[in-house]
Amino acid sequence: MRGKLIVGNWKMHGGLAANSALLVALLAGWKSPADRTVAVCVPFPYIGQARDALAGSAIAWGAQDVSAHVSGAFTGEVSAGMLAEFGCRYVLVGHSERRQLHGETDAVVAAKAAAALDGGLTPVVCVGETLAERNAGHTPAVVWRQLDAVMSVLGGRMTLTVLAYEPVWAIGTGVTATPPEAQAVHALLRARLAAAGAQGISVLYGGSVKAANAAELFAMPDIDGGLVGGASLDANEFLAIAAA
Ligand code: PEP
Repeated sequence: MRGKLIVGNWKMHGGLAANSALLVALLAGWKSPADRTVAVCVPFPYIGQARDALAGSAIAWGAQDVSAHVSGAFTGEVSAGMLAEFGCRYVLVGHSERRQLHGETDAVVAAKAAAALDGGLTPVVCVGETLAERNAGHTPAVVWRQLDAVMSVLGGRMTLTVLAYEPVWAIGTGVTATPPEAQAVHALLRARLAAAGAQGISVLYGGSVKAANAAELFAMPDIDGGLVGGASLDANEFLAIAAA
């Protein structure tokens, strides 16, 4: 269901002491207005730490990846059921770093989204084009292809997901899509979601979101919040983004 949502992606950062300080600062600083949800997606080993710190609070937690499989001989993988046992609410699927560095295809991303739903998690499905694809005018075709792959597997269950538009050229680069640039792609995605009756889900923007640019991005009519990488490691920055 559509609502404001801000998700922090810690990526492969942190450690017990640093996480503890960050979680304590988030809990102390988050005023939790009722109109938005905040979550952090932490590395697998620290999900228990996030649960212990955040249980009962207004901040949800989740993971950055999930296996497409339920159980079995899949060394190194973590299932949705395992994440659910640790109270995870969200899981990222199809982050560009997974697609680019780990060879995840559209089909794998779709299978992971389905596995997440099967396990009781909300998948945050990430789509986005590279700079070369944007410069070639292929942005709509790329993000539609990535989205269609997931919709074709999930069908009506697409309504149970969150979508994140993350232009690859904006992730971790300090270069942000302008609000009108982001809005244009969000509008395309939301229209496409209608094919699965899912135009009413939350569509997040991600890519160098900071406190300084969050408000103008989130003011766009089809942007429902953010997926925040680097800035989610700084409690003050992340809290300011969440409040934007
Ligand atoms: C991300 O990792 O999803 C992301 C958007 O990173 P950053 O905010 O650092 O660009």
